Amino acid sequence: SDHQLEYPLSPGDMEWKLLYPAFYDESTGLMTKQVTIADIGCGFGGLLVDLSPQFPDKLILGMEIRVQVTNYVEDRIIALRANNAETSAYQNISVLRGNAMKFLPNFFHKAQLEKMFFCFPDPHFKQRKHKARIITNTLLSEYAYVLKEGGVVYTITDVEDLHNWMKKHLEEHPLFERLSSQWEEQDACVQIMRNATEEGKKVARKQGDKFIACFKRLPTPTII
Ligand code: SAM
Repeated sequence: SDHQLEYPLSPGDMEWKLLYPAFYDESTGLMTKQVTIADIGCGFGGLLVDLSPQFPDKLILGMEIRVQVTNYVEDRIIALRANNAETSAYQNISVLRGNAMKFLPNFFHKAQLEKMFFCFPDPHFKQRKHKARIITNTLLSEYAYVLKEGGVVYTITDVEDLHNWMKKHLEEHPLFERLSSQWEEQDACVQIMRNATEEGKKVARKQGDKFIACFKRLPTPTII
């Protein structure tokens, strides 16, 4: 249960300086950057760690619902920062405990995000549990709200049924359009997400399949 989770009333109430102290300007009292990349259900943080050097000028946030797992990722980032103090590496990644299926617009402004990752989400195999899946019509509208036009939703899973489910819902949603397999082949993040996460490594060890689908956030149609 997540009833004791705390949420900011609005994105402006978030204390981002606690998560990314290197990107806080003491003189203005403002952050010099805002989060533009989110890893939803980040697990043990492998994707954050591998994305960090790829996007040194972007703030990357993992969101994870399990307390112990979030604490683990927090410690992992503290250690990485301490071991790389002279280069300031890993200052751009952080983790937040939260339920990404609730109140996402409390954390992010409209059109704030450039990329959202859904790596090996919980499959919820049973039919009656499908509504608990992290991609549904309603949630996609929230993801579309926090994503900017041209922003990208990345999905990867080893469960073909879940892949078809995510693809179907994204294809049916008016604000998303599938990116081509050529686009996927040349995108650096697709290459990283294939192997960076702990779940992805487990699947590779078992020589399982990895199904990928990426979608672009379309412009919101203007109502005449
Ligand atoms: N993305 C990681 C990877 O590829 O290694 C973790 C995959 S794991 C199968 C799914 C993760 O999503 C778990 O760590 C779980 O706690 C987290 N999760 C499930 N529902 C969530 C939610 N509503 N909000 C945030 N995290 C969630």
